[in-house]
Amino acid sequence: MLIPLLDKIRNKIYHWANSLLSYAGKISLINSVIFGIQNFWGASVLLPKGIAKRIHRMCKNFLWGIADGTRSAYILKGADFWTFKPTAAHSWFWHNIILYRDELLKHTGGIAAAKTLMGAKDYKDQISELLRPKGPKISMFRTLGDSSIYPKHGVIGLLAAQNKFPTVDNLCIRGLVLVNRCSLCECQAETADHLFFECPYSAEVWDSIASWLKIPCLTNLAQTLTWFSNHNRGRSWVKKQRRCALLSVIYLLWSERNKRIFKEARAATVNIIRRVKYLVCIRTRPNIEE
Ligand SMILES: [Zn+2]
Repeated sequence: MLIPLLDKIRNKIYHWANSLLSYAGKISLINSVIFGIQNFWGASVLLPKGIAKRIHRMCKNFLWGIADGTRSAYILKGADFWTFKPTAAHSWFWHNIILYRDELLKHTGGIAAAKTLMGAKDYKDQISELLRPKGPKISMFRTLGDSSIYPKHGVIGLLAAQNKFPTVDNLCIRGLVLVNRCSLCECQAETADHLFFECPYSAEVWDSIASWLKIPCLTNLAQTLTWFSNHNRGRSWVKKQRRCALLSVIYLLWSERNKRIFKEARAATVNIIRRVKYLVCIRTRPNIEE
């Protein structure tokens, strides 16, 4: 909803950046125009802290000469890259760089080993091999061409396999200031594992579907992906049903979470369970023409 506000400010700054303005002129424009726009919006909408920070950052970049008003020139200010800790004020890009740095340190065992690796001639290949996703995640790509799975469920399953869901914990990592609370139970922090498995709401759905299809109790994403890849290949009717059910549950839980946030609508677990069974029966019914 607030994207037009950011676009409006960004456009203003973009046009001003092409003019030769003094610092006093820039400050005057920021105070009179940008803060005027912000106050106008703020009178009708409660501006989130994150939006106010982004506007502040755009103004700061404009004032100090960064043309597009969106990029930030981050200087480590003498800090060592290997020990640098980003704050909420740093960009999503920097948070990701630091995430990969931490992964590299975890795999190599320490700063000294990581520095040695970076000095190697084929360091790009070595790092790529160390950090690339391994295990059952790759086989999830096959789900996109599986006739027993709804295409949109396959896409959601692929996102789950890569932990690319914009769950609140992932948004926090990207620097957005949000209250991390699960939308389904409204008690605990929202992570992918909690949202899809540990939450009492999700667990109730899984219990029902697991007993319906005679599948083991699944408690987290990694276990589910392993089970999905190792035990559910093949074209038998039972395995098709299981594949379809697993991704349907993930898709419907994600939809329910979004409906609660954006539409303030709620569905009971029995409705989700009924919907999963309906979708599975429709998708995996025997083809009469065969
Ligand atoms: Zn929950």
